[in-house]
Amino acid sequence: MKVYISVDFEGVSGIVAWEQTGGGSHEYQLGRELVLGETNAAIEGAVSAGGTDIVVNDSHSAMRNLDPARLAGKATYISGRFKPLYMMQGLDDSFDAVFFVGYHSAVGAAAVLSHTYNPDTIWEVRLNGEVTGEAGINALVAQACGVPVVLLTGDARAGEEARRFLPAIHVVETKKSVTRFAAENLHPEVARGLVREGAGKALSNVREVPLRPIPVPALLEVTFLTEDMAEMATWIGGVERYAPRAVRLEDGDLLALYRRFVAVVYMVRALAER
Ligand SMILES: [Zn+2]
Repeated sequence: MKVYISVDFEGVSGIVAWEQTGGGSHEYQLGRELVLGETNAAIEGAVSAGGTDIVVNDSHSAMRNLDPARLAGKATYISGRFKPLYMMQGLDDSFDAVFFVGYHSAVGAAAVLSHTYNPDTIWEVRLNGEVTGEAGINALVAQACGVPVVLLTGDARAGEEARRFLPAIHVVETKKSVTRFAAENLHPEVARGLVREGAGKALSNVREVPLRPIPVPALLEVTFLTEDMAEMATWIGGVERYAPRAVRLEDGDLLALYRRFVAVVYMVRALAER
């Protein structure tokens, strides 16, 4: 069985500050260890349930957060920046299941480090009218490839948000938010144990997970922080502005829709103030 794992950072137990998620600091080194631990737990769970080929796609920031030699299960590692399918690079119809590991909740949520793709540009994203985080958006690619998303590990709120679009997904909660910058974190060993067990269960139930949970054609509505970001987004074909700070993208081809969304994310980043 081929298993595809999209690994993010902010939903991993112990991660509560941006300083832990990038840069050259000791804090980041600690953060990377925590992410590697949960990633390996997911791989081990997958292997125990019959996973033979594991592909890990690094989905966070510069997307080279893990030490390739320390990945369990002799996993293939997709790393590095400017991938056309971004958080879902490398997925195709040859896979049997998708895992989302270390996922966090949507921008605006009262949950630790909540954001949707880029906190410097995106104020809100809705999928078919409902607020979505990254799991709902990334599920468009899985559905386009005909591969079920069977597992999400992350903070409690991220799981709730994902279930709006993926009702049969198995969720492993690794922490509970206190504020956007504080959480009650399970001990890493406890979190890894739950992730390992959850990954095995999720893979065993793969046939019970619907392949097309999202109604098609799908509509993405993206609200930005500023009006000029919305204007810039319309430079991409198929993006229509419907409010001063908001654009809509609709398509029956979910892969085309996601690619258009990724193009918007990459482009409007040029207008982010830092
Ligand atoms: Zn993320």
